[in-house]
Amino acid sequence: MAVPIAARTPDQAHQQAEAAQAAGADLLELRVDYLEGLSVELVGTLVGKMRNAGEEPPRMIVTCRDKQQGGALDYPAKLRVDVLIGALKAGVEFIDFEYDNFRVIENQERIRLALSQCSRGRLILSAHNFEGKFENIGKLFRNISNACPGAIPKLIYVANHINDCFEALDLLHQTSAERIVFCMGEAGLISRILAKKLGGFVTFASIDEQNATAPGQLTIKQLKTLYRCDAIVADTELFGVIADPVAHSLSPAIHNACFAEKGLNCLYLPLLVEGDRQGFESFVSHALLRKWLHFGGFSVTIPHKANALAYVRARHGSVEPLAARIGAANTLLVGADGKLIASNTDYAGALDAIIAGMRISKAKLNGLAVAIVGAGGVARALVAGLSDAGADITIYNRTVERAEKLAAEFGCAFAPLEDVPSVDARLLINCTSIGMHPNVEATPVPAESLKKTMAVFDTVYNPAKTLLLKEAKKKKAKTIDGIAMFVNQAMTQFKLFTGHDANAELMRNVVCDSLAQK
Ligand code: NAP
Repeated sequence: MAVPIAARTPDQAHQQAEAAQAAGADLLELRVDYLEGLSVELVGTLVGKMRNAGEEPPRMIVTCRDKQQGGALDYPAKLRVDVLIGALKAGVEFIDFEYDNFRVIENQERIRLALSQCSRGRLILSAHNFEGKFENIGKLFRNISNACPGAIPKLIYVANHINDCFEALDLLHQTSAERIVFCMGEAGLISRILAKKLGGFVTFASIDEQNATAPGQLTIKQLKTLYRCDAIVADTELFGVIADPVAHSLSPAIHNACFAEKGLNCLYLPLLVEGDRQGFESFVSHALLRKWLHFGGFSVTIPHKANALAYVRARHGSVEPLAARIGAANTLLVGADGKLIASNTDYAGALDAIIAGMRISKAKLNGLAVAIVGAGGVARALVAGLSDAGADITIYNRTVERAEKLAAEFGCAFAPLEDVPSVDARLLINCTSIGMHPNVEATPVPAESLKKTMAVFDTVYNPAKTLLLKEAKKKKAKTIDGIAMFVNQAMTQFKLFTGHDANAELMRNVVCDSLAQK
């Protein structure tokens, strides 16, 4: 893993290098285009000091990026080539030069000569596109490889949609020489993580978010701890959560922690799939077509749960009956025959949380008076699960027509949200986002309406102790938090994905730690 050192002064560069090595960097990329007052001597001294700093001299790439290709300060081409040649003489392992500038004969001749005169320095020939995909990435790769056969081609472009990553992944899959290929931007994130699986020469990571040198660059801690980069190998099985937005999702943290605990050769990715049904279908088709990626299943959340169901139906996969009734799937499993199996672990996760929280058997849900506040996706899963178990449900919602429609579908009662204060039920469930961070002072049900005889379940899990639950606790009502449901549905998915039981306590701790950090 290479960590860019992007400092204005040599002192700052030393500090960053120490932090990068302490965090486990294998390679330091000295981005000397960030240095003020750049000169051959300045870089030579910096490289020399760094090589002598610790017990183990760090391996280094020296890059003096052209401002046109993402460089920080605008230094003339001649000085940039002088600096790279000086770095080779100072003994660095790699220099990185832009392919476009290498095609200038004078630059090329000078760099070739310097390479021939040093015993170990190698050239990385790089191309960047900050707008989007290259016109023909395969041709560009061949041109760069042919321009200097001993060099390591580096092709980096911005992914404007996750589907743009497949060209980079294909190129890595189809080539075997040393090469660096990945995508920038949030949509390109998976290509940075999967470069290791596909034999990419190196992945770049920043020391921390403030020191990122390219859009979408992950931190070394995220790559090593969250995405278990050191454990990724060619046949690592992949899973991930398909969502938009996805950055806030806690699913990668909990699944990867459980994979690590069980020593499973699996990795769970955040999959930002923007767009409608077509964007979803195109991503899943691309991912499954490439069997060498080894996708074993997906979690699916907003806004794609209905798209997931439609996709599986259209491809003659199998759909779990209650997922069909809910009209949404949150889990797609790739079967042994390659066909998809769609299921919904939300309702079962919620029902398990209710049964455990109320300390009752599932049979006791039959005839139980339940008030559900909200009529969106989560309410729908709960209404389906609880009506299947025979509960007597009333749905309250701000948009009363939505409550009416859901109630008609499952044979329940409904009422406008204004009627909530007169609620009388054994189980009250909040399925709205009211009370969710940052609006933690809001509650969907006034404290006066809560009773000791009620069990109160809030599906909101950020924060875990919502105002609704705090007030219910004051009334000595039984309370059930949203983390229980979240962990339960994730545990069911983990079992479907791997055949192993997940560690519930570990999952809950990871959720709580992640929320505390946020
Ligand atoms: P959704 O489909 O967008 O539905 C949102 C619901 O909240 C609708 O009924 C909406 O009423 C209502 N609502 C939103 N803002 C409101 C406001 N200011 N006043 C009154 N009603 C309001 O969302 P969802 O997927 O069902 O998710 C709902 C919540 O469930 C999320 O916010 C999240 O906290 C929680 N959740 C928990 C888990 C878990 O595992 N624990 C998983 C997913 C989600 P209208 O119909 O009138 O718009």
